[in-house]
Amino acid sequence: MRIDLHTHSDASDGTDTPAELVANARAAGLDVVAITDHDTTAGWDEAIAARPDGLTLVPGAEFSCRWQPEQGRRISLHLLGYLFDRHDIALRAERARLRETRLTRGRTMVERMVADGVPITWAQIEALAGTGPVGRPHLGRALVAAGVVDSVDAAFAGPISSRSPYYEPKADTDVFTMIRLLRAAGGLPVFAHPIATRRGPTVSDEVVAEMAAAGLVGLEVDHPDHGPDDRARAVGLARELGLVATGSSDYHGTNKTRNPLGACLTEPEQFGALLEHACAGEPVR
Ligand code: AMP
Ligand code: FE
Ligand code: FE
Ligand code: ZN
Repeated sequence: MRIDLHTHSDASDGTDTPAELVANARAAGLDVVAITDHDTTAGWDEAIAARPDGLTLVPGAEFSCRWQPEQGRRISLHLLGYLFDRHDIALRAERARLRETRLTRGRTMVERMVADGVPITWAQIEALAGTGPVGRPHLGRALVAAGVVDSVDAAFAGPISSRSPYYEPKADTDVFTMIRLLRAAGGLPVFAHPIATRRGPTVSDEVVAEMAAAGLVGLEVDHPDHGPDDRARAVGLARELGLVATGSSDYHGTNKTRNPLGACLTEPEQFGALLEHACAGEPVR
């Protein structure tokens, strides 16, 4: 069984349509794939309708959150949520708010670049994002099209990096609030790439323990952004806290070339353990 529990379609910042995503998942030899677009469930129906025989689809989403220490800078972190009720009113409202903050933040970053003479326009970003949530990969692609950088990766290392003067943070959800919102909507929260230090500062083991106490059910242990030491620490934490240990690619199509489908996988026993938790939905088989 090859199980990949974290992928993006063009309903957010991936490049495959949801239908292409499930077809590519099957072609990559996956038996189970989760669709986890940022802050939206807009890709679910198309993915379900296009699901090839033999592929199990887990509907989900990825939420940008923040953890605010009593003193010092907040830390940004991502929660995957699986099998929640997409009609739950509170979670739906929060998804809408997150998409709105992505829009304002994207506009702010584009305005800063335009003011500095960078040859991109907001209309380009709108064309790339369509009706979906705006993400920095859309800005990256506009910068590639304008010839400012050679690749989206180079854009992330430069003009759209969190250290760039053009960067603007999003108003992300408090992580404990999101864990509670997800559980209340019958969802299963899993901490995405918890120890990906190369992305920026990460939270301490104590904070992960507090998240577990608040209702977190799993940790994404195997992820392309985790080195061997990170994986060892994550496995240890998952065991200690009784959390499910997952693995996934964080596939974004051609927006992120280091993450092919199936780059990291979830053990079948761990997938079984995840599904033992009560939730609102079921994988589509
Ligand atoms: P945002 O959520 O708009 O702040 O943008 C971050 C998103 O860009 C996340 O989904 C990341 O997975 C993605 N990302 C991070 N680094 C890269 C990269 N080097 N190339 C493409 N996408 C990236
Ligand atoms: Fe993304
Ligand atoms: Fe993420
Ligand atoms: Zn992701």
